[in-house]
Amino acid sequence: MPNFRSVDFHCDVLWKLLEDRSLSFEQDHTGKLDVTLPRLRQAGAVLQTFAIYVPERMEKSMVPILHSIDLFHRKILSVPDMTFVRSSADAARLMNRSKIGAMLSLEGADGLHGDLAMLRILFLLGVRVVGLTWNHANWGADGVMEPRGGGLTKKGRAFVEECDRLGILLDVSHLSDRAFWDLAQFAPRPRIASHSNARSLCAHPRNLADDQIAALIQQGGMIGVTFVPQFVKAIGESEIADVLRHVEKICELGGEKQLMFGSDFDGIESYVRNLNHPGELHKLQNALLARYSEEMVGRFFAGNALQFLVKHLPG
Ligand SMILES: [Zn+2]
Repeated sequence: MPNFRSVDFHCDVLWKLLEDRSLSFEQDHTGKLDVTLPRLRQAGAVLQTFAIYVPERMEKSMVPILHSIDLFHRKILSVPDMTFVRSSADAARLMNRSKIGAMLSLEGADGLHGDLAMLRILFLLGVRVVGLTWNHANWGADGVMEPRGGGLTKKGRAFVEECDRLGILLDVSHLSDRAFWDLAQFAPRPRIASHSNARSLCAHPRNLADDQIAALIQQGGMIGVTFVPQFVKAIGESEIADVLRHVEKICELGGEKQLMFGSDFDGIESYVRNLNHPGELHKLQNALLARYSEEMVGRFFAGNALQFLVKHLPG
């Protein structure tokens, strides 16, 4: 398809840049990066979300978060092909321009320690999507791998309220089930699962149960089908055909206009076969075109996510 456009709601290339300051997003000669400028070009990318992820062994403070934002500016936004997306108007312009939008998300708010001033500062710096936890527990909530499975703390609730007030979108992808439902109890705000699949097809705790997906959809939220092979298929090698099963399931649950992709490229060490980096997205697209209309595939790849952001990012 000549006008292939794509949006990816989650990648971890910023984490790799944080770990190894010599790496280049613009032209990677090491083969260490999945998401690079040439590959985003191959993918017809209109928007890439860049997650700030601070590994557990690093200091739980604002420092590594701010270092990631510094790297985002110096190594990604400094490339003339890229443009910062912070507002509804920024998102609205993307479809008709040659630049690739770059959005900032925070994967795990451990380093904020519930300090709402830090959250407001991150908003000023352009962070527009926040996942309260990574896999484990922090001051705000339990992550999905925390055995006790707790929900939101009092500080976590205040944090959610401030995100809602500011217009920061909340990402439920790593939350415990209890925290997911706690979040759903707030005034019905659309939430995002930036990189999660259907648990009814692949029983991994990082995936969402059908009732969770239905609740996300009902509240007007979005789900980003992810290419983490262990979240695609429980046993055996994951194939593009297995990714399609998750797309089908989400459509079956009523989410055909709320489905997008969140690759998790650069956050994974193994890959769905033939889906190793953004430059191979056309293979997934071709597989989808065999089953869905061109219009629908266009929605899955870009239209749904852009429409959502135009509607829900701050003005
Ligand atoms: Zn993740």
